[in-house]
Amino acid sequence: MAQAVDICVIGGGIQGAGVAQSAALSGLSVVLVEKTGWAAGTSSKSSKLIHGGLRYLETLQLGLVRESLRERRTLLKIAEDIVKPNWFYLPIYKNSRHRVWQVRLGLLLYWLLAGWNNHGAFKTLPQAKWEELEGLNTADLKHVFMYQDAQTNDAELTRRVIASAEEHGATLLCPATFLSAEKCPEGYMVSIAINRQITTFKCRRLVNAGGPWANQIADSIAPKPPIPSVDLVKGTHLQFTEQLSPRCFYLEAQHDQRPVFVLPYQGGTLLGTTETIFTGDPDQVNPDSNEVDYLLETLHYQFPHFQYKPVNAWAGLRVLPAGHTDAFRRSREVQFVESDDYLAIYGGKLTVYRATAHKAVEVLLRSLQLADAATRPNMKPDTAFEIADTAQVKL
Ligand SMILES: Cc1cc2nc3c(=O)[nH]c(=O)nc-3n(C[C@H](O)[C@H](O)[C@H](O)COP(=O)(O)OP(=O)(O)OC[C@H]3O[C@@H](n4cnc5c(N)ncnc54)[C@H](O)[C@@H]3O)c2cc1C
Repeated sequence: MAQAVDICVIGGGIQGAGVAQSAALSGLSVVLVEKTGWAAGTSSKSSKLIHGGLRYLETLQLGLVRESLRERRTLLKIAEDIVKPNWFYLPIYKNSRHRVWQVRLGLLLYWLLAGWNNHGAFKTLPQAKWEELEGLNTADLKHVFMYQDAQTNDAELTRRVIASAEEHGATLLCPATFLSAEKCPEGYMVSIAINRQITTFKCRRLVNAGGPWANQIADSIAPKPPIPSVDLVKGTHLQFTEQLSPRCFYLEAQHDQRPVFVLPYQGGTLLGTTETIFTGDPDQVNPDSNEVDYLLETLHYQFPHFQYKPVNAWAGLRVLPAGHTDAFRRSREVQFVESDDYLAIYGGKLTVYRATAHKAVEVLLRSLQLADAATRPNMKPDTAFEIADTAQVKL
């Protein structure tokens, strides 16, 4: 690669995949670098929901919820075989954190933000039907709401987006570890290791989509780009071979009334998640026994008969703004850090990867076009591209 590529994206999770796809479709030359495997990081360890995020209404993240619900609608169309709608059952007990009227109001708002569409509709499950709910504890149960969201296979979704990026011209390097980058006149000189061999190439713009590793990556760039203050928040899931239900349940944890999902998953059940601050190396994140106990306590209170042992447990890391409040109360909006031919993507959601990628490529294109205009004022810029509409691209 003697000539500088337009964009080098580090990180083959959903964010890196989205940017690579959107940039390639928009006509830019792109290299995507992933050290372990596609979706090996957080993007295979999420709750696998394509959702508006009902709980974010409580912290008034209305813009994010509206954007997520719009993206849900798009993904249900372009990835219909892996993004499937399902009913979520939300039981309200006497001691639940929210009153029935508050949840009804939240669901109404959720429906309005979804644009009054079918998938936003919600209902009440009549008491006579509570016994159909797979043994749900009905002591002190006051109300059961039903609303729709969608489930996916997060790793498969990421792989499909990457395949689409490749189809539109992106070069994929995996396993390939980003080692360092140094500023050069064209942009950056990047060093990567493939099978212990070090390769260098130039790129005009460098995108750090390293998820929980983003600050480690930023540390290896010279001059050092701005490093935002973030916390890594660990979320653990448990997998059971046995299926509790084909429906999804939105429960409240016994311990601290946080939301916990019980979801049908690969013919069995997925239970999660937790939220605890993590300070170690992202390569070494694992569930711990307190998290397993916390999740099982919630499950056993609400489904006392479901006493099977989990066959698998894993943990992933969210990147959230640093702070002293509960992780639950912190913004889930993506954060961009831009400087000198560099763009880093911190946080965000699987559901809105397309919208995030669109915003990132907008920033990159603008900066490439400005650079072309500055160096060759009388010539047509090389990067006179329009951003492609990925909502039209089937996955
Ligand atoms: C427990 C949990 C549950 C969640 N549930 C949901 C949900 O249900 N719905 C939803 O919308 N969102 C959910 N999210 C959020 C969503 O999963 C994340 O926002 C998203 O997966 C982050 O993707 P990413 O590409 O930024 O990071 P990652 O997927 O972690 O990707 C970063 C990649 O960078 C690679 N990398 C690191 N260092 C290097 C290097 N030196 N060289 C090359 N590659 C490198 C890593 O191997 C990794 O593959 C959840 C998050 C968590 C933690």
